[in-house]
Amino acid sequence: MKRILITGGAGFIGSHLCESLLTQNNEVICLDNFFTGHKRNIVKLFGNPFFELVRHDIISPYYCEVDEIYNLACPASPVHYQYNPIKTIKTSVMGAINLLGLAKRVKATILQASTSEVYGDPLVHPQPESYWGNVNPIGGRASYDEGKRCAETLFMNYHSQNKVNIKIARIFNTYGPNMSPGDGRVISNFIVQALTGRDITIYGDGSQSRSFQYITDLVDGLQRLMNTAHEFTGPVNLGNPEEISMISLAEKILHLTRSKSSITFLPKPADDPVLRKPDISMAMENLNKWHPRVSLDEGLLMTIDYFKELLKL
Ligand code: NAD
Ligand code: UDP
Repeated sequence: MKRILITGGAGFIGSHLCESLLTQNNEVICLDNFFTGHKRNIVKLFGNPFFELVRHDIISPYYCEVDEIYNLACPASPVHYQYNPIKTIKTSVMGAINLLGLAKRVKATILQASTSEVYGDPLVHPQPESYWGNVNPIGGRASYDEGKRCAETLFMNYHSQNKVNIKIARIFNTYGPNMSPGDGRVISNFIVQALTGRDITIYGDGSQSRSFQYITDLVDGLQRLMNTAHEFTGPVNLGNPEEISMISLAEKILHLTRSKSSITFLPKPADDPVLRKPDISMAMENLNKWHPRVSLDEGLLMTIDYFKELLKL
């Protein structure tokens, strides 16, 4: 039995990871400041004696004896990370320093939830890990993008300088149950709008693309990455290469929900990436043939069911 710390454990991805690691007979410490996370996501774990919840902000140091750390704490939706950009950078950078210090002290393996946003508005398509990216360092997305880029640098430096066992996952757009209805990201927005008969809000003309991965595929990939040999650090892309434009996504969600909502076009935010699609050959090669198993249609149907239940529709 391992003792595992999950920062951001009450959030969308963290809550699924807590549940999966408990099912595999681990002891889980879920740490969260509840900025975007919710007790609703983890309430079903409260009766499990191997689950512990800690209210804490990773900007301050935290100490505990653990074997592994998954560092997921950070708001992920543009609406939330732009609410207080200085805090977002502190979370990524000071949080990484605090948790890398803990990993060094207790000799834990530590995994960083990095992001496809390190590629910015990419000029290479699809994006391999070798691409350095195209990020505007003073734009609206910079607090998140540059914070995550700096965290990657810190992870690599703690590895080379202090021999800390690290893993870096560059996560591409992920969706599924436990996303908050007010999260502001595209899939939760479109599904909630379609189910409640409100207009579907497309930013720009809807030609921009993303590649969406279902949560169970990501959780599997994160655990496989944690269990790789010490020499393998990544960064490694984790995503589903099934690429779709936002206009096609809106039409698909209208079809799957049988909604009569209209589509409305709103201004596109500055620096919004035009294209995004992962090259996943490194993950397939190094994570024991990992590949996404859930199609967009299947995953959307499960997510629509979740929101119907949550919104009591
Ligand atoms: P989320 O907003 O649902 O979860 C983030 C969690 O971190 C929340 O529970 C929040 O309360 C907590 N948190 C935020 N700041 C904190 C702090 N300073 N101290 C302690 N807890 C804090 O987002 P998510 O989608 O579950 O994302 C989890 C991680 O994965 C994030 O690091 C995010 O950057 C990364 N990621 C997610 C995606 C995606 O598509 N979901 C893509 C790329 C990377
Ligand atoms: N988007 C949209 N309508 C919405 C929310 C988002 O058209 O209601 C667009 C957004 O401009 C972006 C894409 O959908 O081009 C994905 O946005 P999201 O915030 O989910 O993720 P990210 O931009 O961080 O990849």
